Amino acid sequence: MRDDIRICELNWIEYDRRLREEAPVVMLPVGSLEQHGPHLPMHCDSLIPTAICEAVAADTGGLVAPTLTYGYKSQPKSGGGNHFPGTTSLDGQTLISLVRDVIKEFARHGVRKMALMDGHYENNMFLVEGIDLALRELRRDGITDLSIAKLPYWEYASEATLEKAFPEGFPGWPLEHAGVMETSMMLHLHPEFVDMEKVPMHPPADFPLHDMYPYDPATVPSSGALSSAAVATAEKGKMFMDEYVSGAAAALGEAFAEPENVIILGDKS
Ligand code: ZN
Ligand code: MN
Repeated sequence: MRDDIRICELNWIEYDRRLREEAPVVMLPVGSLEQHGPHLPMHCDSLIPTAICEAVAADTGGLVAPTLTYGYKSQPKSGGGNHFPGTTSLDGQTLISLVRDVIKEFARHGVRKMALMDGHYENNMFLVEGIDLALRELRRDGITDLSIAKLPYWEYASEATLEKAFPEGFPGWPLEHAGVMETSMMLHLHPEFVDMEKVPMHPPADFPLHDMYPYDPATVPSSGALSSAAVATAEKGKMFMDEYVSGAAAALGEAFAEPENVIILGDKS
């Protein structure tokens, strides 16, 4: 376990030495500033992946870059939509450029192993595009040995944990916005920001298969939550956290495994 894992807290000389001597995985959490119902603060999507990245880096000797705390526009079916006051979003182009530029800078410093961890559903393909453009530009600059893992932290929860956390059935990750998982994680990580007395009690949002543009805000629960977090607990949060950290650490081990020595067996005849 190490605690000198945040890049922004190192001086440049120590940072440079760590990169050259330890070749660490640099983890980049990406989140949003987005309403999360009446019971949660607006930086959930940033705090959760940041906490997971820090725990993984502490266990594995990695470094954590400052979190990108603005994300792509909130969508009705996965974040309540962009009409809520406080939800403060980037155009897709801006997010793509931000991700591309940050990756290229880390590559310039000598980073060759990176991991992006997204905490905001809507960011997904914009992160992919930022990664792709950065790798393309770096290739043209002659840098061809940067590898980037993209980690979907929520997927590391086991079936057993989902069954325990959602006694009435798992609603699916998009409807989990401000729901049981995010609220439990926040109760575990940052209880000072959670007000369980304000948890909405309405049933999960029910959306048609199609999407409308512009959408009608009246189709979204007015609380901003897409399902109720009434059964969220800090214990569930710890259960999720433990699996997310071990799952992400194992994924990095696999993603950046050194090639095994190839043993060529001689002719036995
Ligand atoms: Zn969220
Ligand atoms: Mn979100």
